[in-house]
Amino acid sequence: MEKSLFKPFLTVVILMTVAVFALAFTVGVELDFVPGVKMELPQEVKNWHGNQLKFCHNPDACAKDYRDASFYVSELEIPDICPKCGATLYNMARAEKEQLPEDTEFVKSAYTNAAGTRLFTSIVLSGTARDSIHRPQRCLKGQGNTLDGEYNLEVPIEGRDPLTVRVIKTSRTFRTEEGEKPYYSFYAYWFVGQDHETPSHYARMFWLAWDRVVRSKANRWAYIAVQGEREAEGTAYEKDLISFIQEMYPYILTESMRKKAYGD
Ligand SMILES: [Zn+2]
Ligand SMILES: [Zn+2]
Repeated sequence: MEKSLFKPFLTVVILMTVAVFALAFTVGVELDFVPGVKMELPQEVKNWHGNQLKFCHNPDACAKDYRDASFYVSELEIPDICPKCGATLYNMARAEKEQLPEDTEFVKSAYTNAAGTRLFTSIVLSGTARDSIHRPQRCLKGQGNTLDGEYNLEVPIEGRDPLTVRVIKTSRTFRTEEGEKPYYSFYAYWFVGQDHETPSHYARMFWLAWDRVVRSKANRWAYIAVQGEREAEGTAYEKDLISFIQEMYPYILTESMRKKAYGD
């Protein structure tokens, strides 16, 4: 009995979703350029010291085979100029610049704590085009990683509900002089719109379409990622990941998104 009651309801939901998506990209919308996050990462977050990164894209000198040279902004004499070759430095990697729409914005920073643990953080802010942000799983595979599993992780944050982030466990093998060496890492991410936070790529796509149809608004989504090394087994890395997100999170939201996230 329950099944037959649920089925028509599900059909309606699916039809509505399809209609929303169909309308989403055919109706005129007002672009709203105010993002839910600030496009800057703090230099100090309690126990973590951050260094903003810049990348040289010069294919002959510094970014052969898309292996960009990266620099700490704090160590550059002239900001935006590569100290090795004199080319312009960018906030994103060469492959990202070539693949993503022109108005996609980036900020990247490497954080270390006293124990020497290093976490790479990035915020990607989509522009007006829809394809600025895509499924991270696709990228990670494209970069030669094996995906060893993924799950949602709840990060308790003071003053609000826990933040849910998606964690992907990756691994790859590097060829070194001593032979092949395995490298295990994790990639954690979530998305922030103007009204919503979600760890789900599909939920983000839904809200994007919903806002366009129901509110005639196109807003810019931000994609926040934290990555680092892990042990082959276990989840010991979660301790640093959780404490880092707890400390970094309060800095990145814009004032209006902060009010929504903290519910006041
Ligand atoms: Zn260079
Ligand atoms: Zn990508």
